[in-house]
Amino acid sequence: MSAPDFQFPLTEVKENGQLAVNAKTASATFPDALSEGALVGPVFLNGMILAVDDEASFTGEAKGRWKFECTRCLKPLEQEWRAPIEVMVPIDGGPMDLTDEVRQSIALAQPMKLVCKPDCKGLCPTCKKNRNDVACGHSAAPEGDGSGPGGNLEQTHKPRLTPRPNKG
Ligand SMILES: [Zn+2]
Ligand SMILES: [Zn+2]
Repeated sequence: MSAPDFQFPLTEVKENGQLAVNAKTASATFPDALSEGALVGPVFLNGMILAVDDEASFTGEAKGRWKFECTRCLKPLEQEWRAPIEVMVPIDGGPMDLTDEVRQSIALAQPMKLVCKPDCKGLCPTCKKNRNDVACGHSAAPEGDGSGPGGNLEQTHKPRLTPRPNKG
């Protein structure tokens, strides 16, 4: 196996005091970083490793693109993400491997929810059409009328007593 793309030897850091980092790796390196959605394209890592006393200190940024579904209307969204990375390791501890740090920073940067636009109207609760695209004519679900969750009492509806006619 070749060395991971985000693993950097520290010999040059010891000799020169610094090492510029401009690396990229396939998003397949982080198959489980996101609990939803997916990374798209390569993941980039840019920054600088500096020798600080007996330590090597990396400061930089990981970035890439990811794909989610809009929380409201399920439309696929793709956008750029960036995550700051700061790591310190003993300079004599061998190569510096930032793969795990990047994986963790992706997990932390992942949005709790993502909407395609701030005023996304979401899906119609009646016909499931995307109400951003279609004026289906159904009224929006009533909101803010004080009924708590689970309070979906349809008291005005009479129970259906007659059997459903055969469908054609
Ligand atoms: Zn949406
Ligand atoms: Zn509708």
